[in-house]
Amino acid sequence: MGVRGTHEHTAARAETTVGELVSQAVRALAGASSSPLLDAELLIAFATGQRRSSVLAFPERRVPFARAEELERLIARRVRGEPLAYLTRTQEFFSLPLRVTPAVLIPRPETELLVEEALAHCPRGERCAVLDLGTGSGAIALAIKHERPEAQVTAADVSGAALTVAGANAQRLGLDVRFVESNWFAALADERFDLIVCNPPYVAAEDRAFAELAFEPRLALDGGADGLDSLRLVLAAARDHLNRKGLLLLEHGHDQRAALVKLAAALGWQIAAARADLAGHARVLVLSAEGVQ
Ligand code: GLN
Repeated sequence: MGVRGTHEHTAARAETTVGELVSQAVRALAGASSSPLLDAELLIAFATGQRRSSVLAFPERRVPFARAEELERLIARRVRGEPLAYLTRTQEFFSLPLRVTPAVLIPRPETELLVEEALAHCPRGERCAVLDLGTGSGAIALAIKHERPEAQVTAADVSGAALTVAGANAQRLGLDVRFVESNWFAALADERFDLIVCNPPYVAAEDRAFAELAFEPRLALDGGADGLDSLRLVLAAARDHLNRKGLLLLEHGHDQRAALVKLAAALGWQIAAARADLAGHARVLVLSAEGVQ
């Protein structure tokens, strides 16, 4: 009994419980994250290979020492500002679990609005030809294909590394999307689509937001001096890649609506719809090619 007791004591000291780790992690993350409890639960779930629901349901579970050490390393990285999605290598988007690496922008919840708009213009059962221009992790293309299996979805990106991530996501989710390495429309020279959906880099180069975006690919975020460089380029080029009655759907920065509307109007685009995200920010513009020369 004495020997067993000693053993149990040693084990208890070496192996912390899930609940204790949650409290420790919350304390460590308090100054670094705006959601320390959620981050702590998700990191512990990841480090111990459980679901978050198990972390919540079984705080008394013991965690092997090696797992707790792994957790400590993850927390240190989070404290240094690394996004949670890169630490857990996953981000949910439109209910799809996507794998993300630092080669791709982490899909944002507001981009789900762009998908919703695309779906609204791609009726069920129709073989819409859809292009996701600058697909990154594949988020937009995969969400559309998942919701509209009949759609013919093409996803393009200039980054081969991003396409590797996107292609792996498509394979894991069993979604048949065609991937093309292309600098904007360069490799899609004579192709036309019913919908072109694009979340281009639109953060102004000098924007202070870059302090918090340091871990993500600059290529996916930096829209030049006023943030509108890529949007300008897409507005100018997209007309040659839309079918008659085709639509261009653009995500943009919350303060770029007026400038973008002006640019689009100058090129002859008609505004079919303009939407705000859940935070109330102007975010998505739907443009019709009718009238564009
Ligand atoms: N919505 C992103 C952000 O502000 C920017 C994404 C983009 O440039 N397309 O963090």
